[in-house]
Amino acid sequence: MQLSVFVLVLFCLCLSVYGNNKHDGSIKHDDPMLNTETPNYKEYCVIGAGPGGLQIAYFLENAGRDYIVFEKGYGAGTFYLKYPIHRLLISINKRNTGKTNKEFNFRHDWNSLVSHDESLQMTKYSKDFFPPADVLVQYLNDYATKLNLKVQYNSTMHDILKRKDGLFQMWDQHNNAYTCKYVIMATGIATPNKPEFPGSELVDGYEDLPIDLDEYEGQSVLIIGRGNAGHETAQH
Ligand SMILES: Cc1cc2nc3c(=O)[nH]c(=O)nc-3n(C[C@H](O)[C@H](O)[C@H](O)COP(=O)(O)OP(=O)(O)OC[C@H]3O[C@@H](n4cnc5c(N)ncnc54)[C@H](O)[C@@H]3O)c2cc1C
Repeated sequence: MQLSVFVLVLFCLCLSVYGNNKHDGSIKHDDPMLNTETPNYKEYCVIGAGPGGLQIAYFLENAGRDYIVFEKGYGAGTFYLKYPIHRLLISINKRNTGKTNKEFNFRHDWNSLVSHDESLQMTKYSKDFFPPADVLVQYLNDYATKLNLKVQYNSTMHDILKRKDGLFQMWDQHNNAYTCKYVIMATGIATPNKPEFPGSELVDGYEDLPIDLDEYEGQSVLIIGRGNAGHETAQH
């Protein structure tokens, strides 16, 4: 009897916590946090401070727009803190093209973002043809800082919805509400592709591979997939 009461209380508690974190569009429009006069209103909200989010932020900044970038990580370019897992970029850092034409050279630079600041070029950060991924993380954070981009870190946005008045509503992980006229999703598209076949539960995905070569000592390794990740792993 006591156990079933306990289970019922636990169930109600879970339901209420879930309810508090789940937003179904039922918004109190008199909530002062939700009108357009508060600091939590921005005309443009960009979600994600990877290369894509930072690049659009640069143009919004230069156009004098009212914008903010929300990034769930503690810095910019967090994708590259983990990937590529063998820690060298697969995008080339072509420093010497044989030409002096800046536009031509920039088109051969696979890593730099567009800006007016010539110090912000990956060719100036590394001489390696395939630079360490950590250098790109440094570059992206310098890009955000030097260009005064408005990035709010440690902010994981969720439950983005469109209100009846046409504005967008979203919340961070602390359930602080933000309102925006336009939302630009720059959260990347990288999710592990896990094909299912008999035995697939025994396979390590690229995202979990050990990079310590001792872990492979004396083992036969079969790599399934011959895209970038497969080649990178084979080379390692
Ligand atoms: C395994 C692998 C290796 C790769 N290696 C390279 C490489 O060497 N060179 C290269 O040029 N490209 C590489 N790419 C491609 C690379 O992912 C893209 O070029 C680039 O990172 C895409 O930039 P992005 O800004 O669109 O997304 P991302 O770089 O993925 O940035 C998305 C950002 O959004 C944030 N975010 C996500 N959800 C939320 C949320 N709810 N709230 C707030 N913030 C959020 C993330 O923390 C992240 O910082 C690789 C891709 C893969 C899958």
